[in-house]
Amino acid sequence: MVKVDKVRPDLYRIETPLPRNPLKYVNSYVIKSSKPLIIDTSFNLDVCYLEFIRALREIGVDFRRADYFITHLHADHLGLAGRLTKEVFMSSIDSEIASKIIDDISMWKKVIEYFVMNGLPQEDAEKIISLHPAIRYLSKVDFHNVDDRETLEYGDYSLQAVLTPGHTPGHMCLYDEDKKIIFSGDHILFDITPNITYWEGREALEEYLKSLDKIYQLDIEVTLPGHRSFKGDIRRRIFEIKEHHTKRLREVINSLKNGMKTAWQIAPSITWELKYDKWDDIPVIQKWFIIGETIAHLQYLEKKKIIAREIIDGLVYYSLT
Ligand SMILES: [Zn+2]
Repeated sequence: MVKVDKVRPDLYRIETPLPRNPLKYVNSYVIKSSKPLIIDTSFNLDVCYLEFIRALREIGVDFRRADYFITHLHADHLGLAGRLTKEVFMSSIDSEIASKIIDDISMWKKVIEYFVMNGLPQEDAEKIISLHPAIRYLSKVDFHNVDDRETLEYGDYSLQAVLTPGHTPGHMCLYDEDKKIIFSGDHILFDITPNITYWEGREALEEYLKSLDKIYQLDIEVTLPGHRSFKGDIRRRIFEIKEHHTKRLREVINSLKNGMKTAWQIAPSITWELKYDKWDDIPVIQKWFIIGETIAHLQYLEKKKIIAREIIDGLVYYSLT
């Protein structure tokens, strides 16, 4: 059941359940004004649609008259938008990738091929197209590009878009400097750590850590994240997330001490926050996220020249330098 909370005057949170998804819920935020703003939606599923509309009715906002800002292209945030509106505000970087994902499945095939080169078994790779939420739960929508530092005004709220690449290449937060409020999307979460994965042509982890520093410098009293609870000190959380990645990088280095390995071979020796006892019990889609995250950490170490990468018989191997 969807839940509605009043966060501040004219500011509401909608918590929409995500069926059969380990994230469980996504937070959308609504600013009530003559022109309402809705920040993030949920999956393109009938159940999400009906619940979302019901929540907006409870708040007293007509979804047809609202503007929509989407923090990043993931389907749990962007997915439903195409059913609610014709056009959404999003960064140009994520808009471009989302358009490609929606229109052309071949972009996926390239990523899947790269994961197979990193050791993902072919039989698992073939299941990804039908399992991946980004492919299943997106809807078609037009994009109005928002620039870094551009300000959006809604009622009493003056929101500056802050480009925070990492979780996705064009992730954006919204910051109200006077009210010291940040809508952090999936850049900073409190109960879980944001997934940092491989993106073609990007340095995801390096970019992510820089984006954490960018937010650290802001004066923030209230953080409104894309998932779960929003009670916590953002600077402490940034510190914890950085520690988490440092630990993971250490685990990757340790696993390479006894010789070269593929990302797939390294992944089981990393501590993952999952409820499975054995590596073999982990569902394919979770293994997909795990291998993506492992590659992102390997890429970071490779750039720092701590490890080297070579291709042998079509497989990517990593070793300590
Ligand atoms: Zn999300």
